[in-house]
Amino acid sequence: MTTVASEHPERLLSPYGGDDDESIRPQRLTEYFGQETIKGQLEIAIAAARARGDALEHVLLHGPPGLGKTTLARIIARELGVNIRTTSGPAIEHPGTLASLLMELGARDMLFIDEIHRLNRIVEEALYPAMEDFVFDTSAGARGPTARVVRLPLKRFTLIGATTRAALLTGPMRDRFGLIFRLDFYDLEAIRLMLERAARVYRVPLDDEGATEIARRSRRTPRVALRLLRRVRDYAQVMADGEVTLEVARTALDALGVDQLGLDEIDRRVLSTILQRFKGGPVGLETIAANVGEESDTINDVYEPFLLQIGFLQRTPRGRIATEAAAEHLGLPPPSGPTQPRLL
Ligand code: ADP
Repeated sequence: MTTVASEHPERLLSPYGGDDDESIRPQRLTEYFGQETIKGQLEIAIAAARARGDALEHVLLHGPPGLGKTTLARIIARELGVNIRTTSGPAIEHPGTLASLLMELGARDMLFIDEIHRLNRIVEEALYPAMEDFVFDTSAGARGPTARVVRLPLKRFTLIGATTRAALLTGPMRDRFGLIFRLDFYDLEAIRLMLERAARVYRVPLDDEGATEIARRSRRTPRVALRLLRRVRDYAQVMADGEVTLEVARTALDALGVDQLGLDEIDRRVLSTILQRFKGGPVGLETIAANVGEESDTINDVYEPFLLQIGFLQRTPRGRIATEAAAEHLGLPPPSGPTQPRLL
């Protein structure tokens, strides 16, 4: 049988970046589907900042990868008509790097720091006065007791921080954001709208049932949905007449190892490890990672959020537990570990 794409199925669902197609990234809030509560609050904050002619308050966006944090940050800048500079936590190694990024910002401009939980402590502390008082403290002259602190004034700017791990942010960091938004998995309808918009840009004929099928298997994650659309489009082109119908979507996605609920090989390995080797758990993340052959951070950030969302996994202080629903989905015996809830 011909395989659908050279891309390895196990990597197909990873919502981490890498292959986002810039041509379909929405530019305006009206093209950003779903997340209605966040959009509503942002619209007000944006209009108010505009009316005052002031910078928007600092914004923190958190949630699993691929849900639209970077896209939203860029849209906010565009809606405000200001420049946005993009960097990431690990890229800012020294306060000096941070200083030069900040000094280049014009009034009301934005600095987007992805993976903000990965800033080192010294850089993080240098960021506090910048966020709070729009100054950058640096020492001048000799080191030691004679060193003088010089305060460099900054323009009033907005910091947009994004993180998949809000829990790792320090309290003082979190407190300095005026607007904090948690992005959630999307509903089916929003994902369908994204797929329809992308299909128009790609000029791929996509019927309603085809769109629904891809949406259903997308882990409710825009990046995954768009990536699956591209793979199904390839399949339709090579193996069918180019149109993405229910039948085409179903066959292509089955061939890619993406199941009815959107789970892939790694999800299934995570769950079957817990269920088969550890009677359903609880079992520690590191042990699961070693058994599955994946990085524990990847399992934690990329795979688990969706499994938690659909009720296939629980996180407890003693480790991960796979649920009865997960066992049923995989056709495995129900969990029988020590902390499984018992029927009375
Ligand atoms: P994150 O920064 O959270 O990892 P991105 O902002 O890079 O996610 O989004 C991944 C892709 O999904 C983007 O290329 C964008 O085209 C698309 N996308 C994300 N959110 C939306 C949305 N709400 N509406 C339309 N497209 C979206």
